[in-house]
Amino acid sequence: MRKTKTLPGPRARKLIRKDDLVLSKSYTRVYPLVVERGKGVWLWDVDGNRFLDFNAGIAVCATGHSHPRVVAALQKQVARFLHMSGTDFYYGQEILLAEKLAGIAPGRSAKRVFLCNSGTEAVEAALKLARYHTRRSQVIAFYGAFHGRTMGALSLTASKAVQRRHFTPLLPGVTHVPYADCRHCCYNLTYPACDFACVNFIEEVVFKKSVPPDDVAAIFVEPIQGEGGYIVPPEGYHNRLKKLAEKYGILFVADEIQSGMGRTGRMFAIEHWGVVPDVITVAKGIASGMPLGAAVSRAPLMQWEPGAHGNTFGGNPVSCTAALETISLLEGGLVRNAERVGNFLIESLREIEARHHSLAAVRGKGLMIGMDIVAHPRAKRGSSALRNKLVEICFENGLLILPCGDGAVRFAPPLVVTKKEAELALEIFEGSLSEMEKGKHRFLAKPSRMETLI
Ligand code: PLP
Repeated sequence: MRKTKTLPGPRARKLIRKDDLVLSKSYTRVYPLVVERGKGVWLWDVDGNRFLDFNAGIAVCATGHSHPRVVAALQKQVARFLHMSGTDFYYGQEILLAEKLAGIAPGRSAKRVFLCNSGTEAVEAALKLARYHTRRSQVIAFYGAFHGRTMGALSLTASKAVQRRHFTPLLPGVTHVPYADCRHCCYNLTYPACDFACVNFIEEVVFKKSVPPDDVAAIFVEPIQGEGGYIVPPEGYHNRLKKLAEKYGILFVADEIQSGMGRTGRMFAIEHWGVVPDVITVAKGIASGMPLGAAVSRAPLMQWEPGAHGNTFGGNPVSCTAALETISLLEGGLVRNAERVGNFLIESLREIEARHHSLAAVRGKGLMIGMDIVAHPRAKRGSSALRNKLVEICFENGLLILPCGDGAVRFAPPLVVTKKEAELALEIFEGSLSEMEKGKHRFLAKPSRMETLI
């Protein structure tokens, strides 16, 4: 798997030097991976080194890299036409995709769909729609939330201060409250005895003291907090939150940009709790890597007048084609695979957790899996320094993983990942964990095993 003695290799180093001169300094390059090509869960860098990709971009390439069916559909579409603004004109791909998304979104009622190019734009659309429909201005969002980086979405984001520094003032009227992160409960309470103090706080404190509920347009919530640390809320949390929203005529917006499109073993993560949102936002995994986002709402909500919202590239026919093929593959077995391989990974990681003092709080659903990297077994929080070291060692050993939250790592592989590939990832991960614990860096996954899987 390793062709060069060191990472990055000579070609990668050359490109990184150039990159450093021309690209925005705001990008957060996690490790020096310079990609040349990909296939399934595998990536090759420009020096011929091979990696097992447990990132899928950032939880994007649901069908794996360059799935042959997606590639074939794209090639056909590219030869037909590339663009004819979906805001101003009609074409079948956009309509077919809207029908499909309306069909798979939770809840049986009719839906309408707004198409755009990215996650943050999907959130902007949902935010504008919530204000437009309710004629209310205020919004509730959560600490730890990541909803994007354009000014509206950034106003909802409260994941890392660096993402907001020097960009204020942001949108007024956004109130952040603690998420149901039971391991770090702000109220020092324990589930279920807490009786959802974090939801009660919104009603008993926020609504009574500072934000009249009849001024609140929407509650924006990630069914599983993503960038914030892959935090899975306890049973009943979303149900309570939805009940609260309903009580005051507030829209419940589920941001499924990271958790949606089959990743958690359901098409949308909120389905794990049987809650039907008023609006869902999707992007990332929707089109196997082609840029596309969508806000899907109950049909009566999306009755804004022509010209109220739109964009040039949204619903691009090539991206819509990729999305239709992606959804067909998800429905054809990949969602089931995410659940099956995800369960296997979570169980195996819990076994590794029992053997390693530095691994804690393995959590997740399907292939959305997070875990803390801790300095000692009783630590309540992960250590970002150790976590960063582990991510680097995994990279050196041929496994691509990403950080999330303060001291956690995530597994978010393509949904095509097989049990054998998962076993190999676990082997590299545990070896890397041992290395990190010893403060050494010797373990290398056996190349022969890699060879048999490709
Ligand atoms: N919402 C969630 C839950 C996300 O995880 C992200 C990206 O990580 C976004 C919104 C923003 O998406 P994008 O980066 O495509 O703008």
